[in-house]
Amino acid sequence: MKKEPFVTNEQLKEIVKEYPTPFHLYDEKGIRANAQALKEAFSWNKGFKEYFAVKATPNPFLINILKEYGCGCDCSSLTELMLADALHFQGGDIMFSSNATPAEEFKLAERMGAVINLDDFTHIDFLEKTIGYIPETISCRYNPGGVFKISNSIMDNPNDAKYGFTKEQLFEGFQVLKEKGAKYFGIHAFLASNTVTNEYYPTLARTLFETAVELKEKTGAEIRFINLSGGIGIPYRPEEEPNDIRAIGEGVRNVYEEILVPAGMGDVAIYAELGRFMMGPYGCLVTTAIHEKHTHKEYIGCDACAVNLMRPAMYGAYHHITVMGKDNRVCDHKYDITGSLCENNDKFAVDRMLPEINKGDLLVIHDTGAHGFSMGYNYNGKLKSAEVLLKEDGSTQLIRRAETPEDYFATFDCFDILKDMKHQ
Ligand SMILES: *Cc1c(COP(=O)(O)O)cnc(C)c1O
Repeated sequence: MKKEPFVTNEQLKEIVKEYPTPFHLYDEKGIRANAQALKEAFSWNKGFKEYFAVKATPNPFLINILKEYGCGCDCSSLTELMLADALHFQGGDIMFSSNATPAEEFKLAERMGAVINLDDFTHIDFLEKTIGYIPETISCRYNPGGVFKISNSIMDNPNDAKYGFTKEQLFEGFQVLKEKGAKYFGIHAFLASNTVTNEYYPTLARTLFETAVELKEKTGAEIRFINLSGGIGIPYRPEEEPNDIRAIGEGVRNVYEEILVPAGMGDVAIYAELGRFMMGPYGCLVTTAIHEKHTHKEYIGCDACAVNLMRPAMYGAYHHITVMGKDNRVCDHKYDITGSLCENNDKFAVDRMLPEINKGDLLVIHDTGAHGFSMGYNYNGKLKSAEVLLKEDGSTQLIRRAETPEDYFATFDCFDILKDMKHQ
């Protein structure tokens, strides 16, 4: 499917007059339509709830949009909990799914009444020692090991993943938690990331539902929710077929009716912790081509770099690029599209066929709405960009300003870099 930006060239030309590139732009209309579609796809399940994975896009303006559709927050760190707290998410609206968890994070999660999703058997004791008791409602993360397959293709390798309880630990953990006062249980698993198939959730659901039935029979635990977590992906590449959330919802429903309902577990709530699927396609990185370089290869140097979008440098991830205003021209130029870091992997694309790019052209790097801005860092002393929301009425709102040198130097307590500079 042809990948089109959610913003037109004319619109973008106006937007960059107000906000200098680079910046991440988000599409309110797309975010809303998708959140609504997810809600409808799982409306068959009374307790269904999506806990948005805050780490994907930790922006309060965007999270507040999702909140209107009944979404909660899935937090994994102290600051993510603080953000959820500031946005007035209440206890049951917050899932705390973390690993190698520091004590103060459990303490804050407990004070906020968040649902705690334990990553390890030893965390039962650690949690009890840290907060003084075991909460009534508790969840455990399951890692069945082995490889995760759909039909015959290997999707991911849980055996190598650091997360979760083994099956034996899960059964023993439920017993121990019950003895320590837990009453209501949840199970969670995240077994493959960025899946572009409608089969991922139903396949995972089968594993979790069967495990839940067994857990109930063997431990007598009252299982209230099953958390299918994240992992529903998006088509980063034009040739990929987008997931059909309606089909995914129906797929999970079929397995639910096949396994849980006959086991007398027809009131179990289904939870999700989607990040990428909720935001990925509804954000893009807007950057200007500022240099052309002709050496052993053809390079286009941008004003954005891996600090703004790390996925290509980190995983060799594909992000589609549109040269604005040249969408209908032939892709007869082969480019490496680079940032300015002193790192040769700072390339948004390698050997990408694109129309001829001239200095000053605006490039839209697609699908940066999740794990884009948030993965950023400050290598080479580069500053993080602004985030801008394209609203439904076509107007824009600055939802995070760009970092300044003041922000960058703010953590030096005994040096005042800006004051000490000679060349102000
Ligand atoms: C990252 C993460 C998610 C979200 O993953 P996506 O691939 O963005 O859907 C959900 N749950 C947990 C525990 C995570 O670590």
